[in-house]
Amino acid sequence: MKTALIRAVSGAVLLASLAGCYSVPVTGRRSMNLVDPTQVARMSVQAFEEMKQQNPQSRDPARIAQLQRVGERISRVVFWDMPNADWEFVVFEDPEEINAFAMSGGKVGVYMGLFKVVQNDDQLAAVISHEIAHVTARHIDERLSKDMLTQTAGNIGGAAMVGTMGMIATDTILSAYGLGAEARGLAFGRQQELEADRIGLVYMAKAGYDPREALKVLDKLVEVTAGDPEPAEYESTHPTNPDRMRALNDQMPEALKARAAAANQPSGPQVIK
Ligand SMILES: [Zn+2]
Repeated sequence: MKTALIRAVSGAVLLASLAGCYSVPVTGRRSMNLVDPTQVARMSVQAFEEMKQQNPQSRDPARIAQLQRVGERISRVVFWDMPNADWEFVVFEDPEEINAFAMSGGKVGVYMGLFKVVQNDDQLAAVISHEIAHVTARHIDERLSKDMLTQTAGNIGGAAMVGTMGMIATDTILSAYGLGAEARGLAFGRQQELEADRIGLVYMAKAGYDPREALKVLDKLVEVTAGDPEPAEYESTHPTNPDRMRALNDQMPEALKARAAAANQPSGPQVIK
């Protein structure tokens, strides 16, 4: 089903938008994408609406307020990397789901289970920043582009694609985020995880949070989710946690410098709704 959908729609998207090159924030890596970011954002917003309809939201005022507070500060820092975002931060009720995600268009979801792991605002900022970094680095677009290349080889130009011009199916988008039923924990590769860690560390630091708390989140995740066969996105098993810890430690001076430098600088306008 998923494969068929990707095949049916991706050729049209490929034809509709020629490859674009862009520079990843913080790391400066050059990346090539075949998908139209505006379209990915539009479909992501739609997928988020579906998630809100299908998953009960928390009524815990303290957690909701905490996510809004932290989300607002992060979104100001990220403003220049996502100027068109319509930010929205939602706490989903599921207490067993130790997970969070961010979507193109500025949609962020946190499950109540995550609060078993994050103990303070700084740690919540670490997780949210990491997830948003996947978005600003356009890792989703890279994944969709890769899927398109593998799925459309030999199929491109097929008449069936024309009728679906401009469409990426919602479940294709959800799978790309690792949120589909079959796709949990599969969304990102090793380099993308390390890149999201590095960018996220800078984001949280620029927002005034202590980047050293990111290390504590990883520690706690290992403790809480030991033996879990389906790791949450933030705890993707590739790369392993010791690798991530080492990389985060290496990047800590850069992050602490960014935090100090940002202390006296104005951030982007407040755009949260
Ligand atoms: Zn990640």
